[in-house]
Amino acid sequence: MTVIDRVRLNTFFEGERQDFIAKHPKSQKLAERAKESLLGGIPMNWMQRWASDFPIFIKEAEGAYITDVDGYRYLDLCLGDTGAMTGHSPPATVKAIIDRARKGITFMLPTEDAIWVGEELSRRFGLPYWQIAMTATDANRFAIRLARQITGRKLILVFNWNYHGTVDETLITISNGVPGPRSGNIGPAINPAVTTRVIEFNDIAALEEALAQKDIACILTEPVLTNIGIVHPEPGYHDALRDITRNTGSLLILDETHTICTGPGGYTRAHNLQPDMLTMGKPIASGVPAAIYGFTAEVANKICMQTTAEYSDTSGIGGTLSGNALSLAAIRATLEHVLTQSAYDHTIPLAHRFVKGVSSVIGEYGLPWNAQQLGCRAEYWFQQKPARNGAEAAAAVDIELDQYMHLATLNRGILMTPFHNMALISPQTTEEDIDYHTKVFREIVEALVC
Ligand code: PMP
Repeated sequence: MTVIDRVRLNTFFEGERQDFIAKHPKSQKLAERAKESLLGGIPMNWMQRWASDFPIFIKEAEGAYITDVDGYRYLDLCLGDTGAMTGHSPPATVKAIIDRARKGITFMLPTEDAIWVGEELSRRFGLPYWQIAMTATDANRFAIRLARQITGRKLILVFNWNYHGTVDETLITISNGVPGPRSGNIGPAINPAVTTRVIEFNDIAALEEALAQKDIACILTEPVLTNIGIVHPEPGYHDALRDITRNTGSLLILDETHTICTGPGGYTRAHNLQPDMLTMGKPIASGVPAAIYGFTAEVANKICMQTTAEYSDTSGIGGTLSGNALSLAAIRATLEHVLTQSAYDHTIPLAHRFVKGVSSVIGEYGLPWNAQQLGCRAEYWFQQKPARNGAEAAAAVDIELDQYMHLATLNRGILMTPFHNMALISPQTTEEDIDYHTKVFREIVEALVC
């Protein structure tokens, strides 16, 4: 197997750094100015996570492409880390946003769009009752609270290296066999090990043991892990997960925020899964802040029996702008016209093409890497075999290599998702776009190993 020469890697990375700086004088100037008013020079801390010395500042975007202030046009395979999986500014959503914005944006009262959305979500995901939140983080927080309320249990369970947003209870990993705050967990109120049990994905025995005491309110998981590379469930794992949670009285919450890349009804519908609750955010409104969470009739009945109108505004659930008319208009347009079966019929084969292209280069140069696909999402990871769980995937994280791949790709006109090597395909992405990525991937890998 080919071994990456670290001295060579660092030299190449330095070359890419200098190239980036030389090509982006306008972004650099804006980045300097931004430092005077914005903490860290960015409006949100994650925007520091790109491999370049400063972020590119965006001028505009359309479909699969983004243009920065220096005039460079990029093939966008990051797509706002899934928020723009619809492609940037799909015309149907833009029209709905403009129409709605002219007639009032938020009322703390429902519009008819809300009913259309509820009915469509039931049809897509198979759960009868729905609520709207602003972000996937919020949807997950609310789902966890409701699970605790109706089960009367305090603890939750998540999988190692999960990610479900900035939800306190979920920011936990296992380090040297000990569960504790995930590294970088900022200002936790308490050690999340007090609120949360954490085990590895794909380990049925661990699941049985963790739920045996019948003290877990809910399990919150993505049906396929996507935040530490793509980690698929092994055959039978979802059946076991459902059986064990049912037998021990824990609710199963599936977070489809990323796995909606599988198809219009997410991984849940594609694989006929039966969650008690389902959450999703990011692309549901084409990037307008909005999220959804839904329940079975049984869960809905329990919630209604246990919560009363008198305290519903101080319940820890909801928010002033949640369910606003603008978000609902955008969700409706997205579901009706953008995240349709025909969009997936276009994007999923392109993700396959991406994996095929990348895998052929990996094979050609004898690299111990692998590429995985989930619907219109694809990812390469720096280990030979696909990981079975979070710990195995995390063991292969290689920051130096990651930074080089990202920056070299960006300098050749392609944006990959900053936190990992993920590519998401939009309805406007073309075969030529994917083949261009394969060409760039070959070029930067070749430079490194030859
Ligand atoms: N769930 C999953 C599976 C996610 O990947 C993320 C964000 N990456 C979230 C929830 C949180 O989304 P947001 O930051 O938009 O609240």
